[in-house]
Amino acid sequence: MSDTVFTKIINREISADIVYEDDRALAFRDINPQAPTHILVIPKKTIPRLASAEDADQQLLGHLLLIVKKVAAQEGLDNGYRVVINNGAQGGQTVDHLHLHLLGGRSMEWPPG
Ligand code: 5GP
Repeated sequence: MSDTVFTKIINREISADIVYEDDRALAFRDINPQAPTHILVIPKKTIPRLASAEDADQQLLGHLLLIVKKVAAQEGLDNGYRVVINNGAQGGQTVDHLHLHLLGGRSMEWPPG
């Protein structure tokens, strides 16, 4: 499997505005923000999409959600935010490395497009 742009960010082969890192995960600002705050939270383990996750990834998936919560607080998103996972082509996924979008700083609409 060839490296995605997110693997290159994890390996510091390309730069990103990193806002959180630990041994299992990384969070950085989206290069094309769709809201005043738009951060991507990713596992360091290569999981191409949510549909590829396995039972053994249960703790890691929970860890990613708790990072979203921490980063949202760090960013001062006290009035709410949205968390999005795009899965596969029809889900709008463009980078084949699991990522959670944290969007905030404006009111969100529902349903999403
Ligand atoms: P997807 O559409 O797969 O759910 O989201 C991929 C996201 O990755 C998009 O919002 C896109 O703007 C972001 N992205 C793609 N390439 C880069 C990059 O090189 N750096 C950063 N920071 N974000 C990227």
